[in-house]
Amino acid sequence: MLDNVRNVIILGSGCSGLTAAIYAARANLKPLVIDGHEPGGQLAITTLVENFPGFREGVQGPELIDNMRKQAARFGTEYMAGHVVKLDLSQKAADGSRKPIEVNLGRETLLTRTLIIASGASARWLGLPNEEALIGHGVSSCATCDGFFFSGKEIAVIGGGDSAMEEALFLTRFAKKVTLIHRRSEFRASKIMLDRARKHEQIEFLTDTVVDDVYEVEKKEVTGLRLRNLKTGEQWDFPTSAMFLGIGHTPNASFVGDQLDRDGEGYLVPQDHVRTRAPGVFVSGDVADRRYRQAVTAAGTGCMAALEVEKYLEEIGK
Ligand code: NAP
Repeated sequence: MLDNVRNVIILGSGCSGLTAAIYAARANLKPLVIDGHEPGGQLAITTLVENFPGFREGVQGPELIDNMRKQAARFGTEYMAGHVVKLDLSQKAADGSRKPIEVNLGRETLLTRTLIIASGASARWLGLPNEEALIGHGVSSCATCDGFFFSGKEIAVIGGGDSAMEEALFLTRFAKKVTLIHRRSEFRASKIMLDRARKHEQIEFLTDTVVDDVYEVEKKEVTGLRLRNLKTGEQWDFPTSAMFLGIGHTPNASFVGDQLDRDGEGYLVPQDHVRTRAPGVFVSGDVADRRYRQAVTAAGTGCMAALEVEKYLEEIGK
């Protein structure tokens, strides 16, 4: 046995990866977590989280993820900054013998018997000049996380797919009015979702319209958007208290290539719960979940992946 081969490496330090680390560390597997491009994942850029069980008054996203990180460290989890450049999941050496999984970080290659891919999905943003500075202050990509803060206010939702319809419909629970702003007049959304949104009396549609900027960084809150009609070229200021993006997510899985099953949008598709077709390779959290995308579901699958790692190591006698 090579002693530079780890029992488990976890890619991603969001809610799913850290939950996997807590379980794997408590099983004495000394997991190594590779932080990735966005340490802490989406919780690290959220404000108050009110739907994570166990926090009666809610908890700040960064605080929640920091606690998970420290909790995993307490049981022996190690962390390494960096991101994966290449993976070799083949586990077959040139002479046909078994070799470990290889995780190439560019500067070095790590070896491991098992791998949990919990690299998450990144919300797409519009890339506007003031957008990033207002994330968590009225700009959000998560209606279930942040909608409540805009009770009785007017909200804009951007996008024309099912995510945007779902966000708009969900936000009517809190908002006085929701304006759905879409860059075309045709929609990607399913007919049923689109009809539901169109029929809703609190939702108004603005089509063929794009957002050129969001105000007002100085006040640390959203007060309005600069809009432009793509057909007429007309520009105007649109007062609103929040801008929710529903323009899709991108799973962070390009480094996997075709070594695992992926769907049309690149999400990893496990074969059985969190097990993949590569022995010893498991997936958890948003990188394999285009449907629920909640902190608590990501934590749940992270736990499942760690339990599968334990089982797999037993199976191969390690
Ligand atoms: P999507 O279907 O790809 O739609 C993304 C929308 O955002 C499109 O309307 C697109 O406009 C717009 N968009 C993208 N980039 C933009 C930009 N830079 N500026 C302005 N608009 C932009 O993504 P999704 O809505 O997240 O859905 C992804 C998948 O998940 C779909 O298969 C969907 O059915 C599924 N989903 C299902 C449910 C449900 O059934 N409850 C809920 C959510 C998601 P264009 O149309 O002009 O490209």
